[in-house]
Amino acid sequence: MHTFDFSRPPDVAAAIAGGAQAKTAQQGADVRFLAGGTTLIDLMKLSVETPARVLDVNRLPLDKIEVTPDGGLKIGATVRNSDLAYHPVVKRDYAVLSQAILSGASAQLRNMATTAGNLVQRTRCMYFRDTAMPCNKREPGTGCPAITGANRMLAILGTSEHCIATNPSDMCVAMAALEATIHIQGTKGSRVVPFADFHLLPGNTPDRETVLEPGDLITHVTLPRPIAGSKQVYLKLRDRASYEFALASAAIVLTIANDKVKFARVAMGGVGTKPWRSPEAEAALVGQPADPVSFRKAAEVALRNAKPQSENKFKIELAKRCVTHALKMAATS
Ligand SMILES: Cc1cc2nc3c(=O)[nH]c(=O)nc-3n(C[C@H](O)[C@H](O)[C@H](O)COP(=O)(O)OP(=O)(O)OC[C@H]3O[C@@H](n4cnc5c(N)ncnc54)[C@H](O)[C@@H]3O)c2cc1C
Ligand code: SF4
Repeated sequence: MHTFDFSRPPDVAAAIAGGAQAKTAQQGADVRFLAGGTTLIDLMKLSVETPARVLDVNRLPLDKIEVTPDGGLKIGATVRNSDLAYHPVVKRDYAVLSQAILSGASAQLRNMATTAGNLVQRTRCMYFRDTAMPCNKREPGTGCPAITGANRMLAILGTSEHCIATNPSDMCVAMAALEATIHIQGTKGSRVVPFADFHLLPGNTPDRETVLEPGDLITHVTLPRPIAGSKQVYLKLRDRASYEFALASAAIVLTIANDKVKFARVAMGGVGTKPWRSPEAEAALVGQPADPVSFRKAAEVALRNAKPQSENKFKIELAKRCVTHALKMAATS
């Protein structure tokens, strides 16, 4: 049976010092931060994660949601997903984020899950979660059985010959569309990472999923000032109506003037190896009539580079319809 040390660092500096003892911040790390535990404890029970030390970050003073002097929003790392989704400013100004969070998991899980934990949650690829199977993400160099195996749920964008796992987060899709910034404190000081740069493509190192280094603690996330007059929608398509991960999802932020698209942000979930923003679709929308023809064209552009696996070709059309319909919903909201 696996044994580990469990501790509650008294402050951020102690947490970072503890985390810095990890060989790696990624798969195989021997020190892990524990937030809500809904990913980490799950994976420890399956022996997929086997840290020697677990540092509980829940008592650190990182649980506030605050409007920033420039009119944006600062979200602490340990803010629970439920508290974020139901915060009045989020519901009013960042509705796509509220909708995305509430579409995920279950009420009980959202009450436990935190902002930082959600950012770093692991893939649901069944081979990753089964230590009897090879998996390049869990054990680099062992192979990727999903490529010739069960891949219906897996990615069609950003894949490599070494890994085709989908990033499962809903919250992250909305944060990609909202152009969030991630604030990290590590052994060498603090730094900020634009959301688009935080998650890594699998390439030939699928075990590295984010830019986090040993000892790096996510302290908070900031959102820019809300886009005045924007219409926002998160649409999630899945096998059942609740408690299920996305087959395809779309986060849309749109402004329309004189029946034309003035501003657009488009991100997709359920289809990419990371939360997938599509600047190409956004460019295809701006200046065009806010109508179904433009929306479908943008969706075609967003999926132009999709590469299906043996069981998930259906996701290409599903994702196109998801983006098209989400744009229609936003335009008419
Ligand atoms: C049955 C089930 C269904 C689910 N369905 C969905 C769904 O439909 N949509 C969806 O989006 N999600 C879903 N989830 C996933 C859920 O959203 C995540 O498990 C949750 O967001 C993780 O947050 P946590 O605080 O519990 O993280 P933890 O489990 O505590 O931690 C997760 C990871 O984050 C790291 N970490 C935590 N805090 C920090 C920090 N401050 N700095 C650096 N690293 C940190 C941990 O070390 C760990 O590696 C589901 C989960 C379950 C169990
Ligand atoms: S897709 Fe990625 S996570 Fe799944 S088996 Fe292949 S390497 Fe592992």
